[in-house]
Amino acid sequence: MDRRSFLKTSALGGAAAATTALAAPAYAQGNRTLTMVTTWGRGLAGVFDAAQRVADNITAMTDGQLTVEIKAAGELVGAFEVFDAVSSGQADMYHGADYYFVGQHPGYAFFTAVPFGMTAQELSNWYYMDGGMELHDELGQIFGLKSFLAGNTGAQAGGWFSKEINSPEDFNGLKFRMPGLGGKALGKLGASVQNIPGSEVYQALSSGAIDGTEWIGPWADEKAGFQEITKIYYTAGFHEPGAGLSVATNREVFESLSPAHQKVIEIASAECHQWNLSQFLANNGAALARLQAGGVKIMEFPDSVWDAFGKASKEVLAENMSDELFKKIHDSAMASMKSSSAWIETSSGVYTKQRDRVLG
Ligand code: CA
Repeated sequence: MDRRSFLKTSALGGAAAATTALAAPAYAQGNRTLTMVTTWGRGLAGVFDAAQRVADNITAMTDGQLTVEIKAAGELVGAFEVFDAVSSGQADMYHGADYYFVGQHPGYAFFTAVPFGMTAQELSNWYYMDGGMELHDELGQIFGLKSFLAGNTGAQAGGWFSKEINSPEDFNGLKFRMPGLGGKALGKLGASVQNIPGSEVYQALSSGAIDGTEWIGPWADEKAGFQEITKIYYTAGFHEPGAGLSVATNREVFESLSPAHQKVIEIASAECHQWNLSQFLANNGAALARLQAGGVKIMEFPDSVWDAFGKASKEVLAENMSDELFKKIHDSAMASMKSSSAWIETSSGVYTKQRDRVLG
C-alpha cells in the first residue's frame, strides 16, 4: 500500500469510527428474526417441543430483539437437508439430531448418540466439563456452524417390531428404521436399515415399507401412534442411551450477533437440554403403563442379541477411526464416560438399587 492510499484508508477508517461512536452501540440495530429449520415435523412430541423451547427462550431472553421463525421439516427444506441449508446460509439455524449428519462427518454421531455410548448424564458431563462442547465447535468450524446441545431424549427404546426378536438371526432381512451409527451396526446383523424422518415413520410402518422402527421412547412413540400398528415393543435399546439434540447457527450469522445475543443462544440451548430431558423422563413411565394397558407386549432383548449389538457396534466405531477428528472425539467421549460413570454407578447406581430393595 503506498502512502497516499494509506492516508485515504485511514481517513475513511477515522470517519467510520466517528460515525460508529455517535450511533447506537454496535450490534444493537433493531429487532431481528432468525429462520430456524428443523429435522422435525410440526408438533412432533418432545423433539419439535425442544425446537420451540429454544425459540421461545431466545425471544424471552432478548425482550423480543431476537425472534426465531421455525420452519418444520418440509416447510423450507426437508428434514435431512437442514444441515446443508444452514451451512450454506439458506437458513440461519437448525434444530435437529446431529447423528442425521454422519454423512457430512461421522464425528457428529457423538452429539446425538453412538451405540453403547453415553447416558444423558454422561453426555452432559462430557459436553460441559470434559471438552465435548469444544469438539462440537471444532466440527462446526469445518462446516461454518456454531453448535450447542439443545435437547435430550434420555435413554431410547429398542423399538417396535412386527415379530419377536429371540436371537441375532431374527434381524436378518428385517427392514428396520434406525439412523446414525446404530443403524450401521444393525446392518451388520443383516437388517435392511433405512433412515426415515420422524414425521414419515408412521406411514412407512403402517404401509409395510418397514417391518419395524425405533423412534424415541414410550411417550413420544405413543404420540406417534405406533401401538396402532404393532403390539411388540422392546424397552431398552443399544443405539441411543441418551440422545442429545442440537441447535446449529450459521457461523457468520452467529458472529454478527452481539456477544450478549450469542450468549443467549448458548444459554437458551443449554436450558432446553435439561428441560427436554425432564420432559421425556417425566412422561415416559405413565406412557409405558398406558401402552401396556392397551395391549402392547413389553419386551427386553435377550443377552445373545445384546452381545451381537455390542460386537457390531464396536466394528462400526473401529471402521471410522481412520478419520483423525472422529478418533479424537471418540477418545475424548469414551475417556469422560469411563471416568464419570465409575462414580455414578457406585453412588446413585448402588443407591437406587438399595432404595428399590428397602422400599419394595
Ligand atoms: Ca431414535
